[in-house]
Amino acid sequence: MRDVDYASPGSADAVLARRAAAEAPGLRYLGGGTTLFDLMKLQAEAPTALIDVTRCEDLRTMDLGRAEWRFGAGVTMGEVADHPQVRAEFPALSESLWKAASQQIRNMATLGGNLLQRTRCAYFRGTPAYPCNKREPGSGCSAIAGANRGHALFGGSAHCIATYPGDLAVALVAFDAVLELRSPRGARRLPLAELHRDPGDTPHLETTLAADELIVAIRIPRVPAAKASVYHKVRDRESYAFALTSAAVGLQMAGGQVIDVRIGLGGVATRPWRAPAAEQHLRGRALTRESARQAAALAFADAKPSPHNRFKVALGIDTLTDALMQSKERL
Ligand code: SF4
Repeated sequence: MRDVDYASPGSADAVLARRAAAEAPGLRYLGGGTTLFDLMKLQAEAPTALIDVTRCEDLRTMDLGRAEWRFGAGVTMGEVADHPQVRAEFPALSESLWKAASQQIRNMATLGGNLLQRTRCAYFRGTPAYPCNKREPGSGCSAIAGANRGHALFGGSAHCIATYPGDLAVALVAFDAVLELRSPRGARRLPLAELHRDPGDTPHLETTLAADELIVAIRIPRVPAAKASVYHKVRDRESYAFALTSAAVGLQMAGGQVIDVRIGLGGVATRPWRAPAAEQHLRGRALTRESARQAAALAFADAKPSPHNRFKVALGIDTLTDALMQSKERL
């Protein structure tokens, strides 16, 4: 049993004032706790102090404007997934949340916390008897020569091939979402595409956030391609499982040709993965099953599979092809 300091301020200003006064290097912000408490039980995380942000009403606002949508980072997954306007005007966003977790977890988990969830690699979350560079820097990676069925095709290094497990961030990266960040030192904006790091030789460093930075809100530019968007997720069982492969797709067409297409890939990379070569292939073309499959093949052309996850290349191509055709059907 370890003591952990706990505070639950009522506003973002109060959270940051508390953070500025704290010296604890092990201090963490706490949202719904659906990831962090799991990791504490597994001893993969051991914070010394927690600042609970769930009482901050100013982190729980939603503004669905014409040019941009803004969601406070403390809004729950369920509040966005179930929102009628989100379901009608940006189905990929709603579906990425619906397919991510059970209703109970959606009711608890916050958007900000969801973006920061950590890998499901069994060596990271399992017994410390197996080396894991993410859990203990410099110890080695058990997955590279071990069980790597769920691991990444893109973005891996000789030190880590763990997959980023989230769904929401895959939809957000495809639609150029931007984060509002605050710390006791000030405020800044960060494109979501720049939030997660590739593992390189420091896989324990997963994001570009400073230790004291708090995600305050998520901004999503409104684009016509969101209206017919899709989040298609393939997993080992139909409910509450992490993606083997997933694809977030947005589509806008005119005169039988693709005007705009957005493609994010999940379950296959060390971070939320955009597929620019596939997008480029489709712009200005008719969208047929054949052109969709060509684009999907381009998206996976640089895949670097491990011995147990070679099946993900073909599965990923099928997943993206199907997502593109589903999006076309929604136009
Ligand atoms: Fe650890 Fe990454 Fe290797 Fe998994 S893949 S064992 S998280 S270093």
